[in-house]
Amino acid sequence: MTLKNYDNVAERETSNTHYSTGNYPNDSIDWLTRLIAFDTVSRHSNLALIDDVKAYCEQLGLTVDLTFNDAKNKANLFVTVPAGKDADEINHGLVLSGHTDVVPVDGQDWTSEPFTATIRGDKLYGRGACDMKGFIACALTLLPQAVKLSNAGQLRRPLHLALSFDEEVGCLGAPLLLADLKARGITPDHCIVGEPTNMAMVVAHKGIAVYRCRVHGKSAHSSLTAQGVNAISYASRLIGYVDELAQEISHRSDNDGLFDVPYSTLSVGTIQGGTATNIVPNLCEFTFDYRNLPHMTQDDILAPIAAKVAELSTQMQARAADTGIELLQEESVPAMTDNDSAELQALIIALTGDDTRHKVAYATEGGQFTNSGIPTIICGPGSIEQAHKADEYVALSEMVRCDEFLQKLLNSCAIS
Ligand SMILES: [Zn+2]
Repeated sequence: MTLKNYDNVAERETSNTHYSTGNYPNDSIDWLTRLIAFDTVSRHSNLALIDDVKAYCEQLGLTVDLTFNDAKNKANLFVTVPAGKDADEINHGLVLSGHTDVVPVDGQDWTSEPFTATIRGDKLYGRGACDMKGFIACALTLLPQAVKLSNAGQLRRPLHLALSFDEEVGCLGAPLLLADLKARGITPDHCIVGEPTNMAMVVAHKGIAVYRCRVHGKSAHSSLTAQGVNAISYASRLIGYVDELAQEISHRSDNDGLFDVPYSTLSVGTIQGGTATNIVPNLCEFTFDYRNLPHMTQDDILAPIAAKVAELSTQMQARAADTGIELLQEESVPAMTDNDSAELQALIIALTGDDTRHKVAYATEGGQFTNSGIPTIICGPGSIEQAHKADEYVALSEMVRCDEFLQKLLNSCAIS
């Protein structure tokens, strides 16, 4: 079938409704310009952007589902272009997924206003240009065509759009969206998360978990060490153990050479403790993170640390009551596994002609999608190198590549 001449696709009539894209953009650069103008830094509400996209989807005749945070000032958006003869199938299908929040610009030296998209040369500058409003802009641009196919009974599988909040502060939004899908009995077959990969196919990423460790000892004068329990000493034993474990894990036989760092990592990042040299310290706190390969669960790494915490706490408590070690999880995003994504990978390879499979160390919502049973890959315009920096940009050519990619993807969802 042909997919040409759909420029005015949204201006169409059904039996009882009339709608058009109205003031909405009809190309991805204009959409990106519009999206960047919403200051969706994670500490702010994203509702203005969500309401704008919702109104656009509703103009296209689609039903939009929102899931809110507790404070009701942020929302995820999920919308489906249905398939089937009567355009009533919303289950299965393919999800295009992106996060709406962006990182702050505080203290960064920008050449142009970060929330005003600015084209200089062959690049579009603005906060979120590559991470990741570029992909969302391309997906929104595609929507009217998908609706047209759906209304003509020519969509073979549903196409979903999932927009989340609070990705940049620990992937907090997507789990609500995924729980809502589960509750509604919607189980998409596949998902593409459009984080910036220069349109390369990322099939797996490591998980990340961040822990705070609080070691409670007992104070004493440093001349009376037997009366105290030295929190720094016990913290250092635990840190020594974390480092040993990191060494051990780095030599496992099942490490994965497709990752730049082919093993799971563990790293202690901060430490505070003690008030004076002549006082046995009663408190020492440190943080560490680990990034697990997809085939190791986060518990595989945590379990020996938790056992060491219990062992040391018992030793401390034998010397003084009310001492011991607290281990608090601050953040956790599961790894994205490629175990079940062979079919999706084959589709992407067929569309792009590129069969290179990449694996990366940064975490995305992709891990949460695969963890809830939806095979996922990451593929989006722009480079992670530009993400989070001053003068964040996306090359215009990357936007074209993403438009073309999504067009092919939609064609693959259509009845030929
Ligand atoms: Zn991102």
